[in-house]
Amino acid sequence: MTTVLTTKKRPSKQGMLDNVMRQFNNAADIVGLNPNIRKILEVTNNELVVHFPVRMDDGEVEIFTGYRVQHNNALGPYKGGLRYHPTVDIDAARALAMWMTWKTSLAGLPYGGAKGGIQLDPTKYSQDELQRITRRFTYALGDNIGPELDIPAPDVNTNSQTMAWILDTYMSTKSPNERSKNLHVVTGKPIGAGGSEGRDRATGYGVFLTIKFWAEHKKLELKNKKFIVQGFGNVGYWAAHFLSKEGAILTAVQDAYGSLYNEKGICPEHLLDYTKANKGSIIGYSRAGNIENSEFFGLECDICIPAALGNQITVDNAPVIKASLIAEGANGPTDVKAEEILLDRGIDIIPDILCNAGGVIGSYFEWLQNRNGEIWDLKEVLERLERKMKESFNKVAHKTKTQKIDMRTAAFVIAIERLEETYVQRGIFP
Ligand code: NAD
Repeated sequence: MTTVLTTKKRPSKQGMLDNVMRQFNNAADIVGLNPNIRKILEVTNNELVVHFPVRMDDGEVEIFTGYRVQHNNALGPYKGGLRYHPTVDIDAARALAMWMTWKTSLAGLPYGGAKGGIQLDPTKYSQDELQRITRRFTYALGDNIGPELDIPAPDVNTNSQTMAWILDTYMSTKSPNERSKNLHVVTGKPIGAGGSEGRDRATGYGVFLTIKFWAEHKKLELKNKKFIVQGFGNVGYWAAHFLSKEGAILTAVQDAYGSLYNEKGICPEHLLDYTKANKGSIIGYSRAGNIENSEFFGLECDICIPAALGNQITVDNAPVIKASLIAEGANGPTDVKAEEILLDRGIDIIPDILCNAGGVIGSYFEWLQNRNGEIWDLKEVLERLERKMKESFNKVAHKTKTQKIDMRTAAFVIAIERLEETYVQRGIFP
């Protein structure tokens, strides 16, 4: 694999890579991070770009480009999702891999950070084609992933089925007596294929928990609070499900196809059933009205949950946001300039590396169970998840208060300090 310097090539507009580097440098300055360790952390360890052929249903061959960026593994194996989306490129993978390093460090997990995916629009391919694309991508990644090296998981447009195909392909390339030792090469698998109870809802449940902890901190009730969700996939749906159960009211949803609004409330379960029968789209749902996408972030509400893609909250919409809390289910949804505007306006932000960490914590539980031949029930998984999320939230809240910094900076400071300590103790080879 090649090792490439990542930070010299800045995208012209403020992209996700620029964002994560600014967030990192801001916190590194506050930490007074050792300059040599800063040099290590501001670049990625390994970057793999693969081009691979796949036969389409019509018999033609198409060439796809896949990415896997491994940012840092000082704390343990690389860990992070695989995304199938037209916006996947090397810079997006670099940025998302870096966020994973800070997220796993903050959560106190024995993992580093990685991310990858394929640049494609999955709606243009059949299930059979997606299966062949996934299997051939896995084959192309070869031994650059592995249960003790780099462990992928689901992300945008990938799911437990995608993970099952990866697992099966990876295991099939091993000798028979090695196969079952590799069950933990991916997490987010279906239960029947070695997945864990609760991994499906872990990210959304974690988003909900951080909102609950925030409300407790502020001595606020979640009952009757209005919230809006951008992205009604794995993260958006489960976050909405748990918040609604707590008595909060979902008033608007936006997905890749459009936006819906009902001030009296939208039932997440009912909307999910509708999307399942409607190719994953919320459009046409009869119990809410359509609104323009541009109206979404300016809607009257208490809590806003971006749970789709990066860079959705920008200088263009930050000034009109009415919510008093932004809970970042997505990775990198708020750009740095928008964040300054929001903080100036007194709006709290639970940062992605804290807010959506339930996903990687749930993945860690799955990995541990596979490694140790254990099976935990749902109650145990959710209880352990809550304990871990609470620990991280409290650490961030304490740092925010004692150092008088915002929550994102506090989260980054904690993550960076843990990594710095590791490097100081271990030294640099040779
Ligand atoms: P998903 O594929 O299940 O759902 C994505 C949703 O976003 C869909 O409803 C889609 O229609 C919507 N969407 C896509 N483009 C959009 C756009 N331009 N505007 C509005 N909506 C759009 O993906 P997911 O797993 O729920 O991931 C969502 C976000 O959460 C991503 O940023 C991902 O990195 C992050 N995340 C996911 C996990 C996880 O466990 N799945 C963990 C941590 C963070």
